Amino acid sequence: NRQFRLARRPVGHVKREDFEFRTDPARAPEAGEIMVAVEYISLDPAMRGWMNEGKSYIRPVGLGEVMRAGALGTILQSKAEGFSTGDVVTGALGVQSIATIAAKDCTKIDPALAPKPLFLSALGMPGMTAYFGLLAVGEPKPGETIVVSGAAGAVGALVGQIGKIKGCHVVGIAGGAEKCRYIVDELGFDAAIDYKSEKIPARLRETCPEGIDVYFDNVGGQILDDCLAQINLRARIVICGAISQYNNTTPVKGPANYLSLLVNRARMQGMIVFDYADRYAEGAKEMASWLREGRLKSREDIVEGLETFPDTLGRLFTGENFGKLMLKV
Ligand code: NDP
Repeated sequence: NRQFRLARRPVGHVKREDFEFRTDPARAPEAGEIMVAVEYISLDPAMRGWMNEGKSYIRPVGLGEVMRAGALGTILQSKAEGFSTGDVVTGALGVQSIATIAAKDCTKIDPALAPKPLFLSALGMPGMTAYFGLLAVGEPKPGETIVVSGAAGAVGALVGQIGKIKGCHVVGIAGGAEKCRYIVDELGFDAAIDYKSEKIPARLRETCPEGIDVYFDNVGGQILDDCLAQINLRARIVICGAISQYNNTTPVKGPANYLSLLVNRARMQGMIVFDYADRYAEGAKEMASWLREGRLKSREDIVEGLETFPDTLGRLFTGENFGKLMLKV
């Protein structure tokens, strides 16, 4: 079993030395457990937060522990009722080639329904984040204007497309001309703003002539502040993530324009996808039908080789990933 264990708490961007790469014998499953050959490992911005000490929505990964990660694999051995050799499961299998884990913490999936990587993408955690984050927290109404940042990424690209399905005017903020072209030409967003080369306030005024009703925030920082300045009465701001700040070595500063919430009686609300776990089946069913009907596109960025983990994870923070980033073991 090849695995990455957290060796020390990273400071700033993750480095290879923050992990220990080990090869250990795989542990045989005990009662209630399954042993899984890991095939695809989801690389998520949240993993950076899980490496930090301190209170969060989930316990930090302990030093010396296998790095936590969502993943998909096939059961090699089972000591759990209802789970058989050859079944395909998703769960927090970790950054390793073989996981021995309680079956109750895994979900069986049907690989005949869609290609396996989709279960870590549109039909998995990022898909559920976009679906419930936008619909349950953002509550968009037809004709309203949605702005989403990280717009060419796993969550953001889905948010914008769901917004179009719901009849909204959708503007995406992404880094670089290629990503901006992609979300407009291939995904059907109404407009894109390249935050790396354009002035965001001026471009928001141009692309959102009626103001912003829903801002789906994946990045935080200055982009959040710029959007707050242009929200409408009773706007909803979904705090999904703040990737621009995950590698900060100094304390995060709050938005300067927060009084815009007061003036506009607006709401800014955090969301954690896990809170919707009992509704995933409902979300996945609707996402799957949109995918089948060609109304929703999912893009995966798959990198080969478990050994590349620390460097590949780093791509999320440089914007080198294009679509849902995952490792193929
Ligand atoms: P993405 O596929 O969007 O990849 C991350 C992207 O973030 C990069 O490609 C890059 O795109 C952008 N980015 C990186 N650094 C910056 C920066 N300094 N400023 C602006 N953009 C930056 O990742 P995910 O879709 O998996 O995650 C998106 C967000 O959603 C994250 O904040 C994540 O933590 C959050 N999330 C929250 C969940 C929840 O339950 N609340 C669940 C899942 C995800 P570009 O090239 O455009 O800069």
